[in-house]
Amino acid sequence: MNDKRQQNVKIPWFLLILLAGVIILSLVPFRVLSERLTAGELRMVLASPDEIMEASIELNSYSRSADVVLELSDGRSVKATVPDAEEVMAELDADGVDYTISGIAESSFMDNIPYMIMMVMMFFFFFMLMGARGGAGGMNQRLANFGKSRARLSSDNNIHFSDVAGMEEEKKELREVVEFLRHPLKFSTMGARIPKGIILVGSPGTGKTLLAKAVAGEAGVPFYSISGSDFVEMYVGVGAARVRDLFEEAKRTSPCIVFIDEIDAVARRRGTGLGGSHDEREQTLNQLLVEMDGFAQNQGIIVMAATNRVDILDPAIMRPGRFDRKVQVGKPDVKARKQILELHSRNKRLSEDVDLERVARTTAGFTGADLENILNEAAIEATIDGRDSICKEDIDEAFIKTGIGTEKRSRVISERDKRITAYHETGHAILFHELKDVGPVHMISIIPTGEGAAGYTMPVPEKDEMHVTRGQLRHMMMAAMGGRIAEELVLSDITTGASQDIKQVTKIARAMVMQYGMSDRIGMINYDENGDDVFLGYDIAHNKTYSDKLLSEIDEEVRRIVAECYRDARAIIEAHRDVLEKCCELLMEKEKITGEEFDELFV
Ligand code: ADP
Ligand code: MG
Ligand code: ZN
Repeated sequence: MNDKRQQNVKIPWFLLILLAGVIILSLVPFRVLSERLTAGELRMVLASPDEIMEASIELNSYSRSADVVLELSDGRSVKATVPDAEEVMAELDADGVDYTISGIAESSFMDNIPYMIMMVMMFFFFFMLMGARGGAGGMNQRLANFGKSRARLSSDNNIHFSDVAGMEEEKKELREVVEFLRHPLKFSTMGARIPKGIILVGSPGTGKTLLAKAVAGEAGVPFYSISGSDFVEMYVGVGAARVRDLFEEAKRTSPCIVFIDEIDAVARRRGTGLGGSHDEREQTLNQLLVEMDGFAQNQGIIVMAATNRVDILDPAIMRPGRFDRKVQVGKPDVKARKQILELHSRNKRLSEDVDLERVARTTAGFTGADLENILNEAAIEATIDGRDSICKEDIDEAFIKTGIGTEKRSRVISERDKRITAYHETGHAILFHELKDVGPVHMISIIPTGEGAAGYTMPVPEKDEMHVTRGQLRHMMMAAMGGRIAEELVLSDITTGASQDIKQVTKIARAMVMQYGMSDRIGMINYDENGDDVFLGYDIAHNKTYSDKLLSEIDEEVRRIVAECYRDARAIIEAHRDVLEKCCELLMEKEKITGEEFDELFV
């Protein structure tokens, strides 16, 4: 009892001394060596990048601003504070000037006062809270842990690639990482550049966490995992401190894997944040980037991150040297689904009448987690009924249960729907294959994406070409029409499945006429003042700049271009009816086929 009271008296003194120390240190001017520039002067310096010998950017931890320090060819060393670090980085990138991003700049003392007051208040708050709760030992312990990374080191990590069913492509991509983690020295003596950051992208439950763990298990290295939402705490500064701490710990035990789940919670595109935790998030993200920029390529730490929304991530994190590798974790196809079911029923007793093949067939669009859930529910069902094995009815029952009634059951796709999707996607694929300005086909899938698409046909990523030709635009339109044309040829009717395709065709055709001057009849005039998405007729009719005659001419041109493309596209698909049938059958069987498998159908 006595002890405790003494502690309570001592600590505020200790804090006051600390505070005084910080104040004194902040008042001592640092870095008198470099000359300060105004924003205008800095711009002039940046305008002649040849003069810059060395550049470094010191990110400020409390805002987007940064100090830019430049060594110039005339021997001067200059420094300026800029409001937006990203802008300067982009400018330096564009000028081809190398720069280093060093830690966090000392912000000026005045900037820090609010934070310091907050920190002190926070400390008092914590002491009061913890003092009230129990012994001094417990208090110190808790205090010591505050601001620690809270990353969980999984010691029981004996998950291997064999525990991840399917995902052959994903595993193949990650084998190299495993090799590196096993023999980091071999790679560094070779001078090989190994990715620092890998981002796993896929819907929830597709096994991203499992895969990351398996990489660590396979390589036999420690696995630190933390979730992006853990970082986002109430107090400014805590998230950044956690990141720092996490990497410190990781460095001590490298080679290792640091896994950041739900990275979108911290790495959301800047400037779109809603609400208060904005600053905190940004600061945490900055710290993460600083850490990643800071450790050497071959230091043996690989940061893996998972998200299901790659589109909302801040582009800064995808820069080279950060998360420069992306692994798409797709939903499992029939074969993979069967393997997942088999894997998760290894420790369960199934009766004779359970046909996992059948279950796999009827669950297109289900994730690994969904399937595991179904087997688990079925096992519970069987146990409750007092049977010693899972029977067919248990599984049917589990479907209803896990689907929370009807929601997921409606995701069970009928054979008819699958077939329509297969024809539709094959239609696109044939055109991608035949037209030289688009494609070739990389992958065809009829697994529902969960974002509304029944399937997809993926061309090989476009080359970075500066000019898009008229021919290319026509081919893009034709490829987009392929789905609908295939439906017309094979089914006696057409479906609503082509609405996105039709939208794209219309957009391209309009742009050709109204923006790119690619219609000889209309000529080289831009009629589209408000960007791409103007509803033809409406906006133009409103401002009355154009005559009705012109409007109908534009309309006719758009129609003519679309009609010509349609005619040519249809002729190509008609000439490849055999491929259409064969590919449809193959897709019905496998759900997902590669570009090579598709190419073979043409011989
Ligand atoms: P995510 O992180 O993508 O949301 P998880 O890795 O947490 O998904 O997966 C949840 C669970 O689903 C896993 O623990 C595992 O039981 C099961 N699962 C998902 N995908 C697979 C797979 N390919 N093989 C085996 N099990 C899987
Ligand atoms: Mg997960
Ligand atoms: Zn389509």
